[in-house]
Amino acid sequence: MTFSLTAPNQSWFAGALLNWYPRHRRDLPWRHTRDPYAIWLSEVILQQTRVKQGLPYYLDFITSYPTVHDLAAAPQDEVLRHWQGLGYYSRARNMHHTAQQVVQEYGGQFPGSYGELLKLRGVGQYTAAAIASFAYDEQVAVLDGNVYRVLARVFGLTQDIAAPASRKVFQQLADTLIPADHPAEFNQAIMEFGAIQCTPLKPDCLFCPLQSQCYAFQHGMVQELPVKSKAKAARTRYFHYLVLRHGNTLYLRKRGPKDIWEGLYDFALHEDDTAELPAPTLVEAVEKLGGRLAANHAEEPVRSLRHVLSHQKVEAKFHPLWLAEPLPSAALLATGLLPYQAAEIEELPKPMLIANYISNIGI
Ligand code: SF4
Repeated sequence: MTFSLTAPNQSWFAGALLNWYPRHRRDLPWRHTRDPYAIWLSEVILQQTRVKQGLPYYLDFITSYPTVHDLAAAPQDEVLRHWQGLGYYSRARNMHHTAQQVVQEYGGQFPGSYGELLKLRGVGQYTAAAIASFAYDEQVAVLDGNVYRVLARVFGLTQDIAAPASRKVFQQLADTLIPADHPAEFNQAIMEFGAIQCTPLKPDCLFCPLQSQCYAFQHGMVQELPVKSKAKAARTRYFHYLVLRHGNTLYLRKRGPKDIWEGLYDFALHEDDTAELPAPTLVEAVEKLGGRLAANHAEEPVRSLRHVLSHQKVEAKFHPLWLAEPLPSAALLATGLLPYQAAEIEELPKPMLIANYISNIGI
């Protein structure tokens, strides 16, 4: 580790980035606004998401909900449906809640400082710093994965960036680097530099303006920095979906809290510790839901789909099951299942696993 917080003036760093940025930045819609709502929207969408994937979602949200009032007033199902496919659905729920908080507690105006922004639900240090600097020119440094990487390489920081305790070291350094006269541009520049020049696997060191000062380049440590300990291996879960049908009706239910995909709709679920489910277990599972299988339906193929999340892998099997009669209302009450027609299902927010299955079988 070479950097020390008492190191001499590091203004060369800001100067080089501010010189690099106007010539290389990508033209992105949220860079043309100082509206804290639009900036916040873009930041929430872009967390853990690549710009290419997030851009159409941003355009859809800002068009469908041009103001924070519009977003706050929208039903949650509709917001989740717009979010479908972006993953990490708690972000969408928090975003919706925050919009309501901004309308109810702040009269529709976003709080005007970093400290106040932190009081909003789902707004952490990174998002608060981004809004405060981009919208209000507050001198507060952002720290995202790109910034960690650039700082670790340029200044030779060897702390594990996955360890929460390291944040303080990186934040202190970033705070000493951000210039008072261009905080917004500096934050944009360092993130953009990490995204397109000092990239994780193939940084463009040959044409890099920081090369002569870069610790990692000078010490042959570009591939070693930043140091990041490996995440725990993802656990595998076996989902057996009971795709219950009667006539043109399919039964789905809204997922509850304390598990993945809260607020999204899926089929009746039997989770097991095995990928194969014996037929009697399947029949039993349907009976537990209050259903009775039709005797005369030809067997349809069971489809398998896999969905990989950050901490778990879902191995799903979809079992098409025809009911002899509609589920009784007591069963609907007990299970949360409800009957839907194809057009209604299209409108429901669903995990991509379910959306893919439905489009595969063409209902
Ligand atoms: S020289 Fe390479 S590692 Fe160093 S800042 Fe430039 S791109 Fe990144």
